[in-house]
Amino acid sequence: MVNQTMAGLGKKRSVIRELFEYGKIRAEQIGRENVFDFSLGNPSIPAPPSVNAALKEIIDGTDSVELHGYSSAQGDLSVRRSVASSINRRFGDNTTEILIYMTCGAAASLRISFSALVEEGDELIAFAPCFPEYKVFAESAGAKYTLLPSDRESLQIDLSVLEGAISERTKIVLVNSPNNPSGVIYSEETIEGLCALLKRKEKEYAHPIYLVADEPYRELTYGKQVPYLMNYYDDTLVCYSWSKSLSLPGERIGYIALCKRMAEKEDVYAAICGAGRALGYVCAPVLFQKLVERCGEDAADIGAYRKNRDLLLSGLREAGYTCIEPDGAFYLFVKALEDDEVAFCERAKEYELLLVPGGDFGSPGYVRIAYCVSYKQIKKSLPAFRKLAEAYQGESHELHC
Ligand code: PLP
Repeated sequence: MVNQTMAGLGKKRSVIRELFEYGKIRAEQIGRENVFDFSLGNPSIPAPPSVNAALKEIIDGTDSVELHGYSSAQGDLSVRRSVASSINRRFGDNTTEILIYMTCGAAASLRISFSALVEEGDELIAFAPCFPEYKVFAESAGAKYTLLPSDRESLQIDLSVLEGAISERTKIVLVNSPNNPSGVIYSEETIEGLCALLKRKEKEYAHPIYLVADEPYRELTYGKQVPYLMNYYDDTLVCYSWSKSLSLPGERIGYIALCKRMAEKEDVYAAICGAGRALGYVCAPVLFQKLVERCGEDAADIGAYRKNRDLLLSGLREAGYTCIEPDGAFYLFVKALEDDEVAFCERAKEYELLLVPGGDFGSPGYVRIAYCVSYKQIKKSLPAFRKLAEAYQGESHELHC
């Protein structure tokens, strides 16, 4: 008999992956250009030219044994130094290289952090809408997963809901800004309120409550600042990745950074090293550690996502859809045109529109559109969105404008 929880996870693929596979089949049947696949957050903008140039230099200039060998489990020292100094230069004097742990992307950063922090019976709180894998990562690390609703209008964290839900067993509060799937950036006011509440609760319960910042979209913003959480709260861990900023999701490279003012930082860092070991990660890919040492502050052409956002947002609003204007990431969270968003997504497939139901993100009634596709595809998809809306109007469904 195999582990039934794991077998369940393996058999039930995520809705996003199911849609992505469906899109591939449809593309074979009717041509890729005729399928409007908005399912997956796979960057469409190429990595900046500095990436390939640096890779060539590293490959040509590094001894082959070193290039393909293991690094220290926590990452190469000079790479961690460069990450720490980049954080300090950009966000204030927050961390040191001994508090950086290189990982295989944000997913690994999160899973390692949860295992490092959670003990039997501890609770992790997240805010809907959010990345569905949080539940998988939290529960497989042994945490009780609690998902709280956000403010209905703004999708900012609802502090009164959090105050009512937080308890002595809360060990981790997890935030993701810019947010997948809404594109919302938590305002400084939200972050100040959140951190004041957590500080009060830490005192009341006399133990740390860790704030875990999931930041794969930090660099993907359209004007608004993303507050750096270590500047507001000492017990902060930042889970970062270059998957989106450098368009390298397949290369699996990221880090965990701890605030140097964290009360139990040595123990937390040791537990992170232990969790990475127990989970069998060994070390982050060495070639890409070297790469981010050279061009970790570069970014793909984010302006292209902004153009996509503007076209899609105005096109959908004109067609009568309601959506929150995203300030970052490359997702649009749109109100479905009927209460059952799964039925709405099925209906959208008739127009070759592949949209992800919001229930998976903890917010039924909405759908996610990943606009990290080509501008041309978005332009071509707008008549399909219009026809879908007209089909509902024809049936006198109420449009939520
Ligand atoms: N967190 C969020 C909110 C994401 O959207 C993703 C990927 O899409 C991840 C984490 C995982 O990113 P990575 O590729 O760095 O593991």
